[in-house]
Amino acid sequence: GATIGIVGGGQLGRMLAVAAAQLGYRCHIYAPEETGPAFDVAARWTRGDYADAAALAAFAATVDVVTYEFENLPADALAALDGLRPCADALEVAQDRLAEKSFVNALGLVTAPWRPVDSRADLDAAIADLGGPAILKTRRFGYDGKGQARLAGAGDAAAAWAAIGEAPAILEGFVSFEAEYSIILCRGPGGELAFWDAVTNVHQDGILATSTVPPAGIVAAQAPHARAIARAIAERLDYIGVLACEFFAGADGPVFNEMAPRVHNSGHWTIEGAITSQFENHIRAICGLPLGATGLTAPRVTMRNLIGDEAGQWPAILADPEARLHLYGKGEARPGRKMGHVTKRG
Ligand code: ATP
Ligand code: MG
Ligand code: MG
Repeated sequence: GATIGIVGGGQLGRMLAVAAAQLGYRCHIYAPEETGPAFDVAARWTRGDYADAAALAAFAATVDVVTYEFENLPADALAALDGLRPCADALEVAQDRLAEKSFVNALGLVTAPWRPVDSRADLDAAIADLGGPAILKTRRFGYDGKGQARLAGAGDAAAAWAAIGEAPAILEGFVSFEAEYSIILCRGPGGELAFWDAVTNVHQDGILATSTVPPAGIVAAQAPHARAIARAIAERLDYIGVLACEFFAGADGPVFNEMAPRVHNSGHWTIEGAITSQFENHIRAICGLPLGATGLTAPRVTMRNLIGDEAGQWPAILADPEARLHLYGKGEARPGRKMGHVTKRG
């Protein structure tokens, strides 16, 4: 079989490599670390800087197709690679909250109201404009709620500005929502589309805690509209592979929050809970194979992240024979670190 190159060696790379192996592909990982969750399951691991265009090109020359499991990559270095899927445009849009919101608004789609913030004076002006409550977010490199500061109003401006550390940022008006959900789709090179069920997500402290399907209530009601939005984004980017879009269920319909140009934590339930997982369909799409069916394998599926010490509860988790446990092989269980997840069907 062919060799798939994956830029990034975290748990998403690990789960992609497992899915690839089932289809007879081997994976070659490119990552700056010495090792990582994908290390044990990859055929080959090359250490290199993400910004090192020459090393990336040498890596790409050893594989048949290149994908990535992490979006904070220099888009120009990746754009130079042959066979990059999804394309570097998707990276460029998704890695910068300002580019992302501008792109989505230009498609006529609803986001939180937002303003660019490059200085303390910008922040004061943005708060005066949008009012409170609001969230100040760094434009780049944020995940799991990192690089964000919530503010009730102008009185919190100094603390919020100090908290994010003067990085280029945006201020977002706080969206009042009844629920949060994600739409995960996979698009093949011929434009064929597969959608999984809309996923209802619960976050704690800005970190995904649980994901549940099928949708109910307002999420089920908004899912067709949100799917159309995700589809419009994918088609505009001529996207190949799995794309995840996060939404707030607002009173007037879906409010786009952010996208991930890759497989997504809120799709981990698809390993056992869908006929074809997000990981397998991503591999299929980037390799030009037909996409697999995305229907549920059980009436109800819930995924719970194991964060920090929670991974140490695995003996208790496995006491339930229906629980499907995934541990990512990360060393140290630091607070807030995603160490694994557990999926329950039924
Ligand atoms: P991820 O790990 O999903 O990439 P992230 O660090 O990029 O997370 P966001 O998705 O922007 O962060 O925000 C994390 C969570 O904070 C959201 O899922 C939501 O619960 C809350 N949140 C973010 N922005 C807003 C907003 N404008 N209004 C209300 N809540 C928000
Ligand atoms: Mg994010
Ligand atoms: Mg998010």
